[in-house]
Amino acid sequence: MVSRVIPVDAFDLVIFGGTGDLAKRKILPGLYRRFLAGQMTENSRIIGAARADLTDAAFRTLVGEAIAEFVPKDRQDKKAIADFLDKIAYVSIDATGEGGWAKLQGLMRDNVVRAFYFSVAPSLFGDIAERLHLHGIADAWSRIVVEKPFGRDLDSARALNAVLAKHFTEAQIYRIDHYLGKETVQNLMAVRFANILFEPLWKAEYIDHVQITVAETVSVDGRGAYYDKSGAMRDMVQNHMMQLLCLIAMEPPYHFDPDAVRDEKLKVIRALKPVSPEHIVRGQYNAGKDEGGYIEHSENPASKTESYIALKVNVSNWRWQGVPFYLRTGKRLRARASEIAITFKQPPHAIFDDAKGWHENVLVIRLQPNEGMNLMVMIKEPGPGGMRLMQVPLDMSFADALGDEAEDVPDAYERLIMDVIRGNQTLFMRGDEVEAAWAWTDPIIQGWEARGDKPQGYDPGSSGPEDALMLMHRDGRRWREIKE
Ligand code: NAD
Repeated sequence: MVSRVIPVDAFDLVIFGGTGDLAKRKILPGLYRRFLAGQMTENSRIIGAARADLTDAAFRTLVGEAIAEFVPKDRQDKKAIADFLDKIAYVSIDATGEGGWAKLQGLMRDNVVRAFYFSVAPSLFGDIAERLHLHGIADAWSRIVVEKPFGRDLDSARALNAVLAKHFTEAQIYRIDHYLGKETVQNLMAVRFANILFEPLWKAEYIDHVQITVAETVSVDGRGAYYDKSGAMRDMVQNHMMQLLCLIAMEPPYHFDPDAVRDEKLKVIRALKPVSPEHIVRGQYNAGKDEGGYIEHSENPASKTESYIALKVNVSNWRWQGVPFYLRTGKRLRARASEIAITFKQPPHAIFDDAKGWHENVLVIRLQPNEGMNLMVMIKEPGPGGMRLMQVPLDMSFADALGDEAEDVPDAYERLIMDVIRGNQTLFMRGDEVEAAWAWTDPIIQGWEARGDKPQGYDPGSSGPEDALMLMHRDGRRWREIKE
């Protein structure tokens, strides 16, 4: 298979927060990989902008170090790295002051795409937007990219939207949810809408329930104070898991067009029912043998923030009437594994005298690790023992199916940045989507705050609190095992 790399238009990309963790780990190495792949044209440039007082040369050294650390060794080509670094400049700017903006203005070129990546705390979005405008650096064709968290509740998200809307139209604003840039997540849409096989069955009549799991093994050690203000609901459910749920639950858009897709996602979010307290389980990991627990990591002995959450969610529309979506995510769990599992209903009439009586088809979409799809089908157990049935996987790993090409699949950030330059907003969240997601999330959080609910402890390396198991057992269902 030959991978097709279509170069994007020439651009000037300014990265505010260019010396920060995200820029070093994801944005700059990602741009280098796109350069290596031939997608970033010769005439494009990257300008780092941050508070530190650095020369161009010092910033290039920092970028070179980031590439050395975060790009696989077999993709580190000396000549390509030198050529890439040649395209990089730096401006020292404090977003809240006036210095540096004139220099930045002088660096911007006409006739190329202008993009501004706000890889800084959201509290600086307004300052940057304002000054880009004031100094005539952004024009009507410029694009801005903003990072999560996009607010911590509906009010703050509205305020952020309003601040950006003062100087930029919705068509210029790219709100990143990097989950949407993942290859497998986009494959969800391909699986549903490019195959006749699944879509006719994609409804309450044939689907028993859906499970969405985002399990991590890492703790919050080192960033506990930050995480303690957020928690799993804000950090994972309101954005990433909500997006996954939307892609599974949405109606087919009339076209694969940014607003058509986002209109359909928005309808799903608006159709989400409020969640009652008995359908929510929150957890906090306990201390392990050699490691502190959540309380030690957050440095807040009275913390009621959840490092784990499981929820039973209902989408209130014709397609999904009576089909629960079970969502769970947490830190310090047994394995790092993210997947969506769609469990189909039993056949309407059993013709086999099979003792197990358990004939369910499950479609599993693995997001990480080992991205791929797995369809569990029932077959006859081999041998002469009569007509006994067993469940076997039709298993497809994308790495196996795509061979060498899988290695060159851009990671989420690479793809999303190229989409910004192409002007394609399909994989970015629209302002109304983010607000609708907070409008659903807020009362849930307010509910447990008002009740003073405490999260339940769970052991590190387990699959979460006991009550989360009960959430499923009560409905006669069980969670899938969390494994890599
Ligand atoms: P960081 O603290 O490592 O870096 C912050 C950057 O902002 C630095 O370059 C710093 O110089 C710059 N900065 C700070 N104050 C400034 C000012 N007044 N004027 C100009 N520049 C200023 O943060 P980070 O981890 O890189 O995160 C950046 C943004 O991305 C945050 O909004 C964060 O929530 C978001 N984010 C980060 C990650 C991640 O993995 N690091 C993941 C998702 C989202």
